[in-house]
Amino acid sequence: MALRDGAVALDGDDVVAVGPVAELTARFGAAERLDAVLLPALVNAHLHLELSHLAGAVPGGAGLPAWIEAFVEARRAANAAQAAPAMAQATSQLLAAGVAAVGDVSNTLDSLAPLTAAGLAGTVFHEVFGAAPERLAAARQAARARRDALPARGALRVVESPHAVYSTDPAGLLELLSGPPASLHLAEDPAERAFVITGEGPFGALRARMGGPVGQAGWARSPVALAAPHLTPGWLTVHLVDLDDADLAALAACGATAVLCPRSNLHVGGSRPPLPRLLAAGVPLAIGTDSLASSPSLAPLAELAALHVAFPGVPASALLPLGWNGAAVGAPTVGRLAPGTSPGLLAAPLDGARVSDPFRFLVSGPAPLGRRVEWLARHRPVVHAS
Ligand SMILES: [Zn+2]
Repeated sequence: MALRDGAVALDGDDVVAVGPVAELTARFGAAERLDAVLLPALVNAHLHLELSHLAGAVPGGAGLPAWIEAFVEARRAANAAQAAPAMAQATSQLLAAGVAAVGDVSNTLDSLAPLTAAGLAGTVFHEVFGAAPERLAAARQAARARRDALPARGALRVVESPHAVYSTDPAGLLELLSGPPASLHLAEDPAERAFVITGEGPFGALRARMGGPVGQAGWARSPVALAAPHLTPGWLTVHLVDLDDADLAALAACGATAVLCPRSNLHVGGSRPPLPRLLAAGVPLAIGTDSLASSPSLAPLAELAALHVAFPGVPASALLPLGWNGAAVGAPTVGRLAPGTSPGLLAAPLDGARVSDPFRFLVSGPAPLGRRVEWLARHRPVVHAS
């Protein structure tokens, strides 16, 4: 809900009250007046901070299997010394974009330090993959050792997470899907569907080139049909571009949150998630940017702006909640200006513009960073003991 001439009463970073300016000045006295849209701080529910040094290094347009092959080569050839400074720069971009909580995917856990230092909350999904059982088991063992060696980690949860259906041993995937809620790349490309139906196609060929076992014919009728029966409401499923009606029904029934990354989808395969059908099916939604290797920025408002252009029939007021889904990444106070919490408060300066729909204003900023925001109060996350 938007409030014209609204006000927020703050005590430090804590929200004390939200309401009409007349009511709040009567209670708390005169207020600072801003020519701006005030909004809760934002959530980027899917990124890979550790890939920031690969910005612009992976060409797209030929679909996901080809992109992954180019990505693996680019990551191998990249100068590893650039990774840390690129992560620091990308973290600054997250803060400038008004992000208070993230769903970050990491193989190395190197993203944990810069995210923690910046005061960001949410979850780091510790991603494992391995198409053969012994490779997956070794990856999970190495990942566990890495997690066990971590120092105290501030406000970020760390959760073991499978990469995707096509990159994970079938039995091991089912075990991971039955474990604690995490994040899974799902239905990003039609080649995934072909792979689980036939065991072949571009993903079968990719696995063969990378020394993995061949796929099995008749594994499932679709990637969603394979995963959804095992997913519970805490799970994130990322991308969801290639969906039929049965997939949409299965997604809605499992209650997992679908994280959309439309600019990455456009770069990788020239496609986009079917937002109106996802909304109509009642699938819980969040927005993510994916990594700078496939996305022009890490700004949630820019990602929502891309959806606004692609789906002009969807009201902007239905887009903004995708950027305020703190619960999806384990930061439930982020994204709502609830009194007694410190969710982070932003101002998007109007710069003299006369705005009839503040939601449309927020999702119509220029690419690649989207609408400019300033911080009025920072998020103060609950710190996890371990
Ligand atoms: Zn991703």
